[in-house]
Formats: sequence, structure tokens, C-alpha cells
Amino acid sequence: MDDFHYEGGDLYCEDVPLAEIAQGAGTPTYVYSHAALERAYRDLDDAFGDLDHLVCYAVKANGNLAILRALASFGAGADIVSGGELYRVMRAGFDPKKVVFAGVGKTEQELMAGLGERILLFNVESASELDHLERYAFRHGKKARVSLRVNPNVDAETHEHITTGRERDKFGIPVDEALTLADRIKEFKCVDLIGVHQHIGSQITKIGPHAEAIEKSAGLVDELKRRGFDIKYFNIGGGLGIRYKDEDVPTAKDLVDAVRPTLEPLAAGGTKILCEMGRYIAGNAGALLTSVIYRKKSGEKSFIVADAGMNDLLRPSLYDAHHEVRAACEDGALANADLVGPVCESGDYLARDRDLPDAAEGDLLAVMSAGAYGFSMASNYNSRPRPAEVMVRGDSWAVVREREHNADLIKGELVPAFL
Ligand SMILES: *Cc1c(COP(=O)(O)O)cnc(C)c1O
Repeated sequence: MDDFHYEGGDLYCEDVPLAEIAQGAGTPTYVYSHAALERAYRDLDDAFGDLDHLVCYAVKANGNLAILRALASFGAGADIVSGGELYRVMRAGFDPKKVVFAGVGKTEQELMAGLGERILLFNVESASELDHLERYAFRHGKKARVSLRVNPNVDAETHEHITTGRERDKFGIPVDEALTLADRIKEFKCVDLIGVHQHIGSQITKIGPHAEAIEKSAGLVDELKRRGFDIKYFNIGGGLGIRYKDEDVPTAKDLVDAVRPTLEPLAAGGTKILCEMGRYIAGNAGALLTSVIYRKKSGEKSFIVADAGMNDLLRPSLYDAHHEVRAACEDGALANADLVGPVCESGDYLARDRDLPDAAEGDLLAVMSAGAYGFSMASNYNSRPRPAEVMVRGDSWAVVREREHNADLIKGELVPAFL
């Protein structure tokens, strides 16, 4: 079942017409379906079956407190990449024993915050980070549980900007170096090496690269165990792709089944399997509602000018990403056009050269599959207040983030005395 669906020509999120939300909350507004979120999470959780596992949610996909609270209530863990995300997950009520912290550039402040909350694991990405972690933990009488983020040198075959597991990418540690580092950790007093982590990229639509990378990294788990390390966690990363258009995407079950022969012996040996999906959980649970401001023609070209732009949803401009565009009130008429925003950039578009709903001025459109890397990548470029966010559950809906006001745009700005 699609949680965004038509009833009598009107587009609904669960049991709420999108037009009702636009009327109440204005546009542009992100709308999230609680049911879709829960379904995606459970699909993933169920895919592991009786393998000992924990599904962590990659907060950077969508860090809204309501989204996080919902996921925490389902039992999810969290995958964070900054001190700000740690703050969010603690505020949302996540159990710190289910929080893993990745990223190549964790600062002293961020490492200290993670140590302070006693998070489950730091996914360490370099020898230097490890040295710093040992130093801080020692100084403050803490223990740091770490997993090494290995770079399995596998091409995820996705967009260049979001592939992370090749040798030339900045992420992770090559396998042979990981073994050298492990020996060094033996000398450390305050760092326990109890995990192996990998993550090769995002929006991966083929099983092959996942399977290859997981098998390579599982080899490191075995080798570390052979060397006497008690590897309690193997984190297979995130990156499972979703359908934006008509891509043939594997399900969570397809992925887990493909690597089950690799994971089962590890789990049987006492290693818990972690995964950290963002897009798979949140991507199809959200849509961006936008109103048409103008229609305009330029020679043969037709433009639909909407009140949402690249600052609200960056993916089309940044990755040339495709998002379906639906009319909130469908009459079937199509027009070949570009759907563009008000931002002063030619790269400001939400859809380009496509058959789109033939929307008139004032009509409402929904840009689909915008639940992940939508609001979280939104900016104030062109001094545009960021959109509101709404969550729908059944026939109820609530604003879960207020639309920003002009005053928010200058928050923290100061005019110095010498002016
Ligand atoms: C971004 C990220 C993820 C999530 O990626 P998705 O494609 O959203 O599943 C998982 N792990 C790490 C380390 C990441 O940086």
C-alpha cells in the first residue's frame, strides 16, 4: 500500500488530504507519513529474521525530532555523524547504548560528548582519531568502545558524490592498515576494539557491491577474532537505495538474504549485526508540498514556477536526482515543462524537461520521495526561511517543525560597534 495515494482525485497522506495540510500549514511544507516510516523500519528489521541484529537509523537523512522519536519508539538505534546529531538523538529519547558515531573529522568536543553519553561505538576512521580518543578517554577516566571503519575498496556504482568505499575516497581504513591499528590498540588502556564497520555509499541499487564489500569486511572480523579480539559488532553500513522513478531496487530482504551466508556464522560466533540505513527508512515516507506561483513560457520552453526551490530540496540540483511530481488534485492533464523554484540560479529546479501535471497558478504539487536528504539538506540560501515540517498519523496531523520566519534568518547576526 502506498501511504501517499489518490482518493477521488485528491492526493492523501494516510487519511489526510494534502490540500488540508497546505491550507493549515502553508507551503512549501514537508509532509511525513508515520505509517510509511514504520513500515520501512519493520521491513528492514524483519529482513534480518532471527540473526542477532540492531537496525540503526542514519540521522543525517532526516533528523527531525518527531521522526527520531518515532524511530526510537520502534526500537531503532541511531547512526550519527556529528555532535549536533548526538544532541538530537539524546533529546529524542534514544538509548545511548544504541548509538554509533561515524565520520572522518570528529573533533575533541564531539569525541568527549560521545564518551560522556557512553555511546555504544565510535566508528573510527583513522589512526589519528584513535590516538586522540585514547588520550581523551584516559584523561577523563572513560572507556571508548570502538569499531574500525574499514574501506573495502569496492565501487558502490552510485553517484560520484555519495560513493564512499573506494580507496581514493576519504572514508575508512584499508584492511591491512586496520590490522596494524588493531595491534596498536592492544597497547591502549582506554580503547576497546569490539567492532568492525563499513559503509560504501548511498542510493546503491545493486546487491553486488554491497555483498562484495560485506564479504571483504567480514574477513577482517574473522582475522581480528583469530588475533584474540572479541569482535561483538559487525556494522554492515547503510546505503540501500529506494525507488525514485522506475529503478529496479532490491528489498531489504533481498540484501540480507544475499549476505546471510556471510553473516550467519559471525552471529553464531557472538557477533551482533548492525546496519545503519537512512534513505531506506525515511526516503519514501516524505513529500514536499509546494504551490505554483506562476506559469511562464520562454520560446518553446514551459516553466512551472513553484514556491519551493533548491534551498528547500537540493537533490535535483546537486545529484541530478529524479523526484516524481504529483498534483494534489489530479485531473490527468500533463505538460512538458521544468518545475523550477524562485532561487536566483539556473540550477534551481525540482524537475527538468518532463511531463508534469499541467498545474495552474495556485495549484498544489507534491514532490515525492523527499523524506530523506530533503529538509536535512535545506538551507537559507537567498534568505529563504526553511519550510515547515508536518507528520501525519492516520487521520491526525501535526506541525513537527514550524516554518522559519524572517527573524530566524538573522538570528545570531550582530552589527559591530565600529559601523
Ligand atoms: C550517510 C550514512 C549512512 C546512511 O546512508 P543511507 O544511504 O541514507 O542509508 C550510513 N552510514 C554512514 C556512515 C553514513 O555516512
